[in-house]
Amino acid sequence: MTTASTLRTIAGTINSQRTVEGGGFNVRRPFPTAAMDHIDPFLLLDEMGPAQYGPGEAVGAPSHPHRGFETVTYLLSGAMVHEDTTGACAVIKPGGVQWMTAGSGVVHSELPTEDMMRLGGKMHGFQLWVNLPAEKKMVNPRYQGYDADEIAQVQLANGGLLKVVAGEVHGVRGPVETTSPMTYAHAVMEASDVVEWYPQEGHTALVHVFDGEVKVNGSTTASGEMVVMERTAGMVRIESTKAQAQVLLLGGQPLGEPVVRYGPFVMNTKQEISDAVQEYNNGTLVKVGKKTL
Ligand code: MN
Repeated sequence: MTTASTLRTIAGTINSQRTVEGGGFNVRRPFPTAAMDHIDPFLLLDEMGPAQYGPGEAVGAPSHPHRGFETVTYLLSGAMVHEDTTGACAVIKPGGVQWMTAGSGVVHSELPTEDMMRLGGKMHGFQLWVNLPAEKKMVNPRYQGYDADEIAQVQLANGGLLKVVAGEVHGVRGPVETTSPMTYAHAVMEASDVVEWYPQEGHTALVHVFDGEVKVNGSTTASGEMVVMERTAGMVRIESTKAQAQVLLLGGQPLGEPVVRYGPFVMNTKQEISDAVQEYNNGTLVKVGKKTL
């Protein structure tokens, strides 16, 4: 019998790999790896840093394209300036999020701010790639940006804080409008804080630990580990075991569609990928907005 207190079964735990992504960021990456291409509907999670940059050392990703999915940047430390062919130009500061629906195609740049470049500083954040369903891969691009004070928050019992970017956890709803049902939340937990998350039955549910140590449904999980839950009914109970711990909660409806990926393009067929590459090369990838960045 399923009751409110039934715990979801753990499908497995993934260890993040350290790698250097295209823009030169040192990242911890639970997926994709050789063993795990994607976790439907999520295509990639990178933890950028934490890295301490000296003057002139900060790195970023200059102009590059995307098609067929969404890129989500959530910053904990540092400052980045984002510009894209929809006309969006914004500085992301600590606690802020940008949710970019690439859809039919955008070119964007993700760079340290001038101050960050000149003075250096600490950079820490996440980039998540969210797949779009086949019928929405060619939608018009969209940019959503929210500062820290616009992210929904709820205080945890022992002083920690739960921040909800998208979806609903602990009765608060995040500001981002997602293309398919989705949860993105960040818990900053003090010792013995508990987060209870009720992902919808059938949905993917991931807990990524990036600071300290927690128990996920009783299983001790260290920083750098991601717990993948079964898609059965039941809740996910996260309890911090030591002083401070931080986790990301990611939930979403699986799309169950073929995933064909090539660099910055994620489509359903090889033909759609060759189309994207050809259109980028001949300057017609961007259908809506500024043609150049
Ligand atoms: Mn990008």
